[in-house]
Amino acid sequence: MAVEQTYIMLKPDAIQRQLLGEIISRIERKGYQIVQAKLMDLDSEIIANHYAHLLEQNFYSKLEAYMLSGPVFAMIVEGEEAIQGMRTLMGPTNVFAAMPGTIRGDFATDLTYNTIHGSDSPEAAEVEIKQFFG
Ligand code: UDP
Ligand code: MG
Repeated sequence: MAVEQTYIMLKPDAIQRQLLGEIISRIERKGYQIVQAKLMDLDSEIIANHYAHLLEQNFYSKLEAYMLSGPVFAMIVEGEEAIQGMRTLMGPTNVFAAMPGTIRGDFATDLTYNTIHGSDSPEAAEVEIKQFFG
């Protein structure tokens, strides 16, 4: 067991659909601390960097357009085993398999428009926190 920090990003649909309060309250209710947060507009470069592993995928242009469609809410979330714990709270990438009670299970019905990002490993968390918070 270790206290970890993870990079969490509420994607543009979360803001457009006025889900920020709902999602933040789930993170707080779980017992995690939000240690930094900001609303920000992304550009194509930061999106390409963040999703470098997906640049060759046929859905990349749809993903880029989504991430450019409005501001995101970027957060550093801290807690015991927070990296895997936040992934569990979020639900899986395949939103059709996401259980009710998870954020994606409750709010997402599209593989691209899936409401929330969370780092998937300690290595990714370190890189992403640096990328978005310096
Ligand atoms: N994505 C998509 N279609 C897919 C898989 C992923 O549009 O078939 C998008 C979706 O927004 C996802 C993001 O690409 O959150 C990053 O994909 P990744 O595999 O890293 O999933 P995540 O870590 O977000 O669960
Ligand atoms: Mg990912």
